[in-house]
Amino acid sequence: MTKDLAGFTTFGLGGPAGNLRIAETRDDLIEFSREHALSLTGRPDADVLFIGGGSNLLISDAGFDGDVCVVATEGVTMTETSETETRVTAEAGENWDEFVAFTLGCGLSGLEALSGIPGSVGATPIQNVGAYGTEVAELITSVEVFDRLAGQVRQLSAVELEFGYRTSALKRAQQRTGAAQFLVLSVTFDLQRSPDSLPVRYAQLASALDVEIGESVPASLVRTSVISLRRSKGMVLDIDDHDTWSAGSFFTNPIVADPDELPAEAPRYPVTDPLTGATIEGRTKTSAAWLIEHAGFAKGFSVGQGRASLSTKHTLALTNRGQAATGDVLELARAVVGGVNERFGIVLEPEPTFIACSL
Ligand SMILES: Cc1cc2nc3c(=O)[nH]c(=O)nc-3n(C[C@H](O)[C@H](O)[C@H](O)COP(=O)(O)OP(=O)(O)OC[C@H]3O[C@@H](n4cnc5c(N)ncnc54)[C@H](O)[C@@H]3O)c2cc1C
Repeated sequence: MTKDLAGFTTFGLGGPAGNLRIAETRDDLIEFSREHALSLTGRPDADVLFIGGGSNLLISDAGFDGDVCVVATEGVTMTETSETETRVTAEAGENWDEFVAFTLGCGLSGLEALSGIPGSVGATPIQNVGAYGTEVAELITSVEVFDRLAGQVRQLSAVELEFGYRTSALKRAQQRTGAAQFLVLSVTFDLQRSPDSLPVRYAQLASALDVEIGESVPASLVRTSVISLRRSKGMVLDIDDHDTWSAGSFFTNPIVADPDELPAEAPRYPVTDPLTGATIEGRTKTSAAWLIEHAGFAKGFSVGQGRASLSTKHTLALTNRGQAATGDVLELARAVVGGVNERFGIVLEPEPTFIACSL
């Protein structure tokens, strides 16, 4: 089956695939991976592409000249591991937000602040998905992968996953080799059997809930509040709202070693270890949205006769206004990166995975 990949991405962009397979069972996934074993010597130019929800992908207008596998496996299992904790394993193709709602419905808390994020469960450990003060790294116990280099299924512990801000060992392996070495088969989380949320850590969320930072509230309330905050920023998918035809935040928040490298008025945040929560000394994070706005790019800034623009609700999201090509989004991204670099000497790093295209 060959098909345009635009329909598989939230940008609504991307040309045809060489070949496309939808894997609905774990056996399908493993069979596809075995057929496409990875060898780092003599590796073919076009490697395979795994797609979950397509919400963190920018695929070229020319498409991807290789085999594409859409991860569509389903299933959730649960075991009570202590008086207070339940271990939950979800297959990679499960829809993330439905999974979050399901765990909360089962009386399990932990994932509530990660409500409303598009995509699949299997993609969450890759970039250590995070929002509103929580990252999946805090709750993941292990990830089951098919290692295409070793040709076998492996269980990777949270420590082995080496999570960082929007990164993990899985993502770093992909960046290092240029190929998807690890196919995520399932993800296991340890969640609390409690109606109460994790302590609220994000100022804007605390203010929306009318509580102090560090307080807990019913987890279902955090979910409702997060979804409402996200919607106001165009960060909940809505086919009728072009502000959501995006990959969410297009740039990561820059981290610098020397805070003096930052403009005097720019916001500064500590960088924390995703597993322990401890502050990492000598690292300061700033806001990419602040840099973009203060470099002169307002919400709605556009290129390509308006075909691609910054979201009208959030400067950090690059959006397809309906008729854009991938080239328009790249042109917009280059304008923003160039403008921020010229004004502040900071090079913004894109967050989505680029397929057959680059900045
Ligand atoms: C409106 C909107 C809001 C968003 N908000 C947030 C947010 O708050 N926080 C955040 O962190 N992200 C956010 N994102 C980005 C995105 O939703 C997440 O990164 C999500 O986890 C991507 O999941 P996906 O299944 O869509 O991955 P895809 O886009 O399909 O793939 C992303 C990458 O993961 C790889 N991949 C996917 N599945 C697998 C698998 N099973 N095994 C191996 N590799 C795989 C792909 O090859 C690709 O490299 C947002 C995106 C949108 C559109």
